[in-house]
Amino acid sequence: MKLESIGILISLRPFSERDAVAHIFTRDHGVVAGMMRGAIVAKTNKPLVGQIGNATWGARLDSALGIFHWDAERNLIAPIMMNFERIKFVNCVFDLVKTLLPERESYSALFDATIKFMMDLPKSNSPFDDYLLWEMTLLRELGFALDLTKCSGCGRDENLNYLSPKTGRAVCAECAEPYKNRLFRLPLTLDITIKFLEKICDELGAKVPNSRTTLTHKKNS
Ligand SMILES: [Zn+2]
Repeated sequence: MKLESIGILISLRPFSERDAVAHIFTRDHGVVAGMMRGAIVAKTNKPLVGQIGNATWGARLDSALGIFHWDAERNLIAPIMMNFERIKFVNCVFDLVKTLLPERESYSALFDATIKFMMDLPKSNSPFDDYLLWEMTLLRELGFALDLTKCSGCGRDENLNYLSPKTGRAVCAECAEPYKNRLFRLPLTLDITIKFLEKICDELGAKVPNSRTTLTHKKNS
């Protein structure tokens, strides 16, 4: 079996003194795991997390951990490498993709949103808001589309002050009145979206990554 696609190198862990196990978020095949021979000792063209490039993956059996050939084009996070505050967002995006996406299933809309987020991040004035938008795309792709455009009770688009934890849909102040203590108060924040991430993680028997639980909504930095 052979796969080929453009992708982002999202994780690289030493496997031996020379080799590493890599996770690449590819546009056409979703998250793919495989071995990168010589990744640890490479003097030139060293694979680095955050690179975008062309991945070729091959395995004798579908279920085996295949071998990557990685052709890096450039490193998307090079411009923010020294910006600790912004690098936190990237770590979080990569950890969530690796934890929540099933392997070898295509999520091309999320892939495109991830590229856009990373390209915009170095010059963004509102990294928290941009991150929140990315996370809404992640939730939508995993079947938890949040609808903040109209009230799920009456259909109006005014006074949308609440969000239902069950349906992920907005509820207006009037419709929310009888049971508002069971609803999230809008505007949407990372403290609300993490509740949906927790639901997905529970279903997978996984934990929300530390890089996400430590990301708290505050003034844009
Ligand atoms: Zn309503």
